[in-house]
Amino acid sequence: MSKHVIVISVDAMVFEDLEYASTLPSFARLIGSGSVIERVRSIYPTLTHPAHASIISGAPAGKTGITSNYIFHPDDPKRSVEWRNRLDEIGCDTLLHAAKRAGLVTASSCWPMTAGGGEVIDYLVPAGLNFYFKDRDHEPMEVFRELGATPSVMDILAEGIEKYGHRDLHPGVDELQAFVSAEIIRRYKPNLLLTHPSYVDNQRHATGVFSDKVEQAIAETDRWIGMLLDAIRDAGIEEETDVIVLSDHGQIDISRIISPNFYLKEAGYIRVDEEGCITSYDAYVKSTGASAQVHFSHGATAESRAGVEGLLREMAATGSYGFERVFGKEELIERYGLFGDFDLVLETDGISSFGEHTEAPAERGFDILDYRYGRGTHGYMPERGAQPTFIACGPDFKAGVRIPEGSILNHAPTIARALGVRLRDAEGQAVEEIFR
Ligand SMILES: [Zn+2]
Repeated sequence: MSKHVIVISVDAMVFEDLEYASTLPSFARLIGSGSVIERVRSIYPTLTHPAHASIISGAPAGKTGITSNYIFHPDDPKRSVEWRNRLDEIGCDTLLHAAKRAGLVTASSCWPMTAGGGEVIDYLVPAGLNFYFKDRDHEPMEVFRELGATPSVMDILAEGIEKYGHRDLHPGVDELQAFVSAEIIRRYKPNLLLTHPSYVDNQRHATGVFSDKVEQAIAETDRWIGMLLDAIRDAGIEEETDVIVLSDHGQIDISRIISPNFYLKEAGYIRVDEEGCITSYDAYVKSTGASAQVHFSHGATAESRAGVEGLLREMAATGSYGFERVFGKEELIERYGLFGDFDLVLETDGISSFGEHTEAPAERGFDILDYRYGRGTHGYMPERGAQPTFIACGPDFKAGVRIPEGSILNHAPTIARALGVRLRDAEGQAVEEIFR
């Protein structure tokens, strides 16, 4: 039984990346001495914050309650500023809670959905998303303190911000997470540390799923993982430390952005004033990247709901509006364990991402400033595209085991087994074949 588990979520890394990653020193060491679950089925929607809630709980998005990156505001549906990012928004048990119950020392460095989690996280640097710093660029430490960064990390965080900046920009934020993680390991030897380099995801959004820029990001990530491996050695805990590298989703290449809200407005289901601002609506389609969640308003009649659903199903059937499926509530629960404050889900046709505008034209080009509208994106159903991967290495894990397929819901139970703790709400199972 190991005493330490370091979990590194390389955002949007996929199995196909391992061929190149194997030529890099840190990845080569982990892949060579560990076990690999090659292709991992993510959750629906394949989005960063929902997937990270599932990675630490073993539960799908309906159960965690994290069904989107954003909080939906029925009174102001276009508002997409506030991200779901607090640990207490996750509606079920997590590895952090389980580790704390077992009396272990826990740490999180820029892991999504851990803000405000100081009760169960001893060393916490929350993910510092850009909107937090709007008008507050001059006081980053104050912002991090309000997000629940623990007093125990303030000196490390101040040093990291001094060196790499505080904003959620790449690769600065990734340098920050690596620096903070390495220092926490070196000084405090946590039993569980979660961290999240996301430069690979960033470069996929900007340049497409496979590109030279993505390879450069993988090489940088290798260096950051190397910093953690060095810290583990310096802390003298190499013999008792498992290192797990995993990922949350892949991406697909996108060729257009299309907004179903434009068509709902044309059909009278969304009403706008002269300036184009929404005055009322029966249904609003909220983008989750390459899928979209349809919210009926409280005032929508049974007739208008049926009308909206009928229209969307007709549009899907033509194949020319950017989405090829309309999932209803029962199907979402049955297939994906997905339910929430929405009524239907639209699934991409494989080349389109969803916008939310009501003005013409319905179809638009890229906007790499918003991850949902980049050259590569995600949010689609988890069967689609290049799949995320999982590498486990250390005293608990066998070397050389290769498992072709797995589930992201098995990650938390597998990590819990390595730590020797019990999770209460996981739906997945520990992957026994990779344990010694
Ligand atoms: Zn992600």
